[in-house]
Amino acid sequence: MAIKAQKGTKDMLPQDAYKWKYIEDEWNKICAEYGFKEIRTPVFEATELFNRGVGDTTDIVQKEMYTFEDKGGRSITLKPEGTSPTVRAFIENNIYAETQPTKVFYDTACYRYEKPQSGRLREFHQFGIENFGTNSMLADAEIIALGYEFLNRMGLKNTELHISSVGCRNCRPVYREALQDFLRPKYDELCETCKTRFDKNPMRILDCKSDKDQELVKGAPMMIDFLCEDCKKDFEELKMHLDAMGIKYVVDPSIVRGLDYYTKTAFEFIKVDGGSQGTVCGGGRYDHLIEEVGGPDMPGVGFGLGKERLIMMMEEAGSDFGGEFKPQIFVAWIGDESREYAVKLITELRNKGIRAEIDTKERNFKGQMKFANKTGAAYTAVIGEDEVKSDEITLKNMETGEQTKVKREDLANAL
Ligand code: ATP
Ligand code: MG
Repeated sequence: MAIKAQKGTKDMLPQDAYKWKYIEDEWNKICAEYGFKEIRTPVFEATELFNRGVGDTTDIVQKEMYTFEDKGGRSITLKPEGTSPTVRAFIENNIYAETQPTKVFYDTACYRYEKPQSGRLREFHQFGIENFGTNSMLADAEIIALGYEFLNRMGLKNTELHISSVGCRNCRPVYREALQDFLRPKYDELCETCKTRFDKNPMRILDCKSDKDQELVKGAPMMIDFLCEDCKKDFEELKMHLDAMGIKYVVDPSIVRGLDYYTKTAFEFIKVDGGSQGTVCGGGRYDHLIEEVGGPDMPGVGFGLGKERLIMMMEEAGSDFGGEFKPQIFVAWIGDESREYAVKLITELRNKGIRAEIDTKERNFKGQMKFANKTGAAYTAVIGEDEVKSDEITLKNMETGEQTKVKREDLANAL
């Protein structure tokens, strides 16, 4: 039996690769414009990093991690997200001791053992940015602005920015109790996962994907109504910055980032009517994560953006992904005597930076012209006896059929 790709993984085939290249180029460009520098971290890490950095009450750690023991008996995990490894590198390389803030971006594969479906894979890819070392809401606004402008450039008209505040260590405990009081009478009806969340992380119950639990949490108290003065002030400031930046948003108290080290700002870019795979980008502030992973007490804010979901949404929106690269010229030859001349010509053109193609299958002239059509080349040069003698090339415009003669040394410029 033929070997197949693993469940939840996908080949990126040549006919789609240009789409990836396009979003990656645009991503690198916008990150530079906003002053973020790239960081690359290993594919695997010590499992402990994610237990602490993602949190052991989350779905990711409880159900979705690719964890195994290596030959040296270490517990290894393929990275399920990009923030914790970035934080680890920030600490390990003493970047925290340099002038702050530290602004980094990444582009990485992630691994989660999920039930594969549209927009949900086991190997998927994320763009992300982080800003470490500042409490200012200007950092949060800048992070959101980059996401907003990026999705705008990618032509996603159908997405909405939802923002909220999840409070801090001062106001969350009060809210937590109010939420538990509300949920206590419904405890027996909650799903098994949510029963375990009740004590450890009740806010995640609000985020449960089961319809029954969604029904049960209707009318629950909301964190946004419990914010302390400091969190209230920060949330107002964030909105003020977003207004000044001309960014449209919806305040949505149902957004949950229910871990102790997530604080204040939480946001998502959501496809309107997109269902449960409708979130293309999610992020927020995590003022205690760096400390939790073993670093100094330093704040941070960032987001992760799913590349597969982004490409899917761009396809739906009819994006041309900047157009696929096609040959500028196809060099065809008539008869064996002309072949080496064609080989020389194509070498010359390529060395001058022209995208030039030749038939490495050596079909006859008719076959070459048919193939030239298939490659989508803009022009074809036909090399025959006359061309070899005169050093003048017949150039055919593949769209109009028009033919012109061009001197060999002028050919690259003519294109
Ligand atoms: P969801 O609620 O859809 O499971 P999440 O909260 O687990 O998403 P994050 O951890 O915030 O997602 O990851 C950021 C982004 O990565 C998501 O908004 C989404 O675009 C993408 N993403 C997450 N999990 C997957 C996956 N299994 N396959 C493809 N993309 C994913
Ligand atoms: Mg998930």
